[in-house]
Amino acid sequence: RHITVTEGADVLDGHTGVARQRGTQPRRGPRRIATVSVHTSPLHQPGTGDAGGMNVYIVEVARRLAEANVEVEIFTRATASDLPPVVEMAPGVHVRHVTAGPFEGLAKEELPGQLCAFTAGVLRAEAARPPGFYDLIHSHYWLSGQVGWLAKERWGVPLVHTAHTLAKVKNAQLAAGDRPEPKARVIGEEQVVAEADRLVANTRAEAEDLIASYGADPAGVTVVEPGVDLERFQPPPVGGEVAAKLAARRRLGLAPHGYVVAFVGRIQPLKAPDVLLRAVAALRRRNPRLVDELTVAIVGGPSGTGLDRPTSLIELAASLGITDTVRFLPPQTGDDLAAVYRAADLVAVPSYNETFGLVALEAQACGTPVVAASVGGLVTAVRDGVSGVLVDGHAADDWAAALGTLLTEPRRRAELSRGAVRHASAFSWSRTATGLLTVYREAVSKHWNNLVSGLAADDPTAQPAGAC
Ligand code: UDP
Repeated sequence: RHITVTEGADVLDGHTGVARQRGTQPRRGPRRIATVSVHTSPLHQPGTGDAGGMNVYIVEVARRLAEANVEVEIFTRATASDLPPVVEMAPGVHVRHVTAGPFEGLAKEELPGQLCAFTAGVLRAEAARPPGFYDLIHSHYWLSGQVGWLAKERWGVPLVHTAHTLAKVKNAQLAAGDRPEPKARVIGEEQVVAEADRLVANTRAEAEDLIASYGADPAGVTVVEPGVDLERFQPPPVGGEVAAKLAARRRLGLAPHGYVVAFVGRIQPLKAPDVLLRAVAALRRRNPRLVDELTVAIVGGPSGTGLDRPTSLIELAASLGITDTVRFLPPQTGDDLAAVYRAADLVAVPSYNETFGLVALEAQACGTPVVAASVGGLVTAVRDGVSGVLVDGHAADDWAAALGTLLTEPRRRAELSRGAVRHASAFSWSRTATGLLTVYREAVSKHWNNLVSGLAADDPTAQPAGAC
């Protein structure tokens, strides 16, 4: 292919070689990105099914990018027949529903069989646009990475990928009875890691996993920490802590007095809500009066392989003799979710693995200390001894000790509460979006520079005067 790039009227589209108007070329950064989220829609309610932190991440980042004049189109699988093909989620942010497989009843594990149909839908949508419509693809989770891999080659744009979870890491920290991730996923992840132009990791730990376990080139991995909505998740006013707690408990129908420990998230083995229940049973053996005054609020809905989990959690609570202590609440949104964090004296995150743990950050932003498992991203999301407490392992006695100590030490809780607010205030979605924009700019600029040097190598007489 013989293409000349000139500093002048038109520039050439990276893939097709079709000239497009000067000015549409991404000289300094992308103007429009295609975000791919195959298995879960940004329009779904987080905290149940397959929707969780990744959905929140995509929504919050897309909004901030649009505010920075980068349009975002999010491709996701249509999960109902009556969904409009395109939904404007916010100014400059559109969700495109791609038909691939049956609308309902398709488990995440079955999605690899629909990737071809999904990719065809994405390519068709792009083909109906002017050439060079998208400047970059950002794929989330390995299934989307597979789609991004093909689209990037067809469109001649860079692919930025965020894994969110990694099978090798998950398999190394499985909950008892949880199914290991299949080999096909591991291979799929390795392929995406090899093909993506840039990898974005949520934490340093994830970056190290990408490099050590997946062979990623360290130069291509950037850590961009997730954020928290500091307007929604605010601490109570100084001096108004008790009133705020009472108001939050009233709002949720929880008893005004006594202690509340909350678990917030999808009910699945990986999140280990059962560890919290066993810890409360162990605490009752040590300090029955404390547990008489305690409510454990489990907030969230069933998910994935844990579809039967709420039922089994109810049975577990009964078998542990703590039925009256546990309240189950459906997934919460907006101010109700903030009320959950404010109503709680402690938020427990006993997960076997978390790539980051947004719930921990949201709770801390509301001034509620977190007791979390010392795994994965939680080590970053919680500052041990400053904004909460990290517990090694999942033994009920260790968790009972950590919860019991903090519940009986109000001064320590107040100190951690102040530390929690300080710690969470360092995170924001604007900061995340700015970090991603830097990665995007570098990816776009490297891509065009490679293209220009490739052209020059093809044709030594070509003068790429207008370095892109
Ligand atoms: N979430 C929610 N309502 C709920 C439970 C959870 O909106 O009832 C949200 C929560 O606010 C958080 C996300 O779901 O932003 C869960 O993210 P996290 O990183 O804690 O876990 P993940 O789902 O990614 O494993």
